[in-house]
Amino acid sequence: MSGLPTGAGRDDLPDDLPAIARALAWARGRIDAMDARVLLRHVLQCPASRLAAWPEQLLDAEDWARYRELVERRLAGEPVAYLTGEREFYGRNFMVTPAVLIPRPDTELLVELTLAHVGDWRYARVLDMGTGSGALAITLALELGEADVTALDRSREALWVAMANAARLGASVSFVQSDWFSALGGERFELIVSNPPYVAAADPHLDEGDLRFEPRAALAAGPAGLDDLAEIAAGAARHLEPGGWLFLEHGYDQAPAVRGLLADAGFASIASWKDLAGIERVSGGRWLGRG
Ligand code: GLN
Repeated sequence: MSGLPTGAGRDDLPDDLPAIARALAWARGRIDAMDARVLLRHVLQCPASRLAAWPEQLLDAEDWARYRELVERRLAGEPVAYLTGEREFYGRNFMVTPAVLIPRPDTELLVELTLAHVGDWRYARVLDMGTGSGALAITLALELGEADVTALDRSREALWVAMANAARLGASVSFVQSDWFSALGGERFELIVSNPPYVAAADPHLDEGDLRFEPRAALAAGPAGLDDLAEIAAGAARHLEPGGWLFLEHGYDQAPAVRGLLADAGFASIASWKDLAGIERVSGGRWLGRG
């Protein structure tokens, strides 16, 4: 694993054990400077301030070897979050493994919308479908305090990660292994949220960048990326209390299609909301019950 990345000159590899500043300089030109700092902090288990305050501090042999290996894996494309095993979401640190999608800042919009719509339900029952790392369900449980949060996923490996995160962060969440609604009985909820797979199966992005390393089953959803969104929209009414809300994250160009799915399923108050980049990223609606 200590082989030099292709294209890098052997002569710029420090002969002796380098200091922090030199280790960071070595990574420059190979990987993003910020990524290099995150990886070095991870190896040294130290705050960013220490890298800045003690640039002359020498690395020991083990740390230098470990850091070099991480830089080379990053150079080969592995996402930083999988290399460090963690990613921040809504101000908390979540453990991530290649069994789960890496939480995205875009998904914080689902948190905001849920918090904004919980309204008068003091003990709202909230369902997160396709929880992955558990970031969404755990954040909602911690932010809402008194809510009764259930999170489901089809993947047993993902549920292990989510359960570990709930334990680490002290969140009370019920986890269910379920392929969408299949394992739910007649349970109903006040709010259903989901960040399901929504990338078109033939989208070339699946073979680029970080997405190559993430679970395909958490990303791709049929020819237009709408298969899972359609299944959730169609089934949600049977699991919502009258007056309850459904919020779905989706792709940058899927808002009209998802509003259509919600309309077909009989939802009212259908709307879409923009993410940090100004793109319609979440669509949702209210289930008013039959008649
Ligand atoms: N937002 C992710 C991406 O395109 C996709 C996540 C998903 O399919 N739920 O990178």
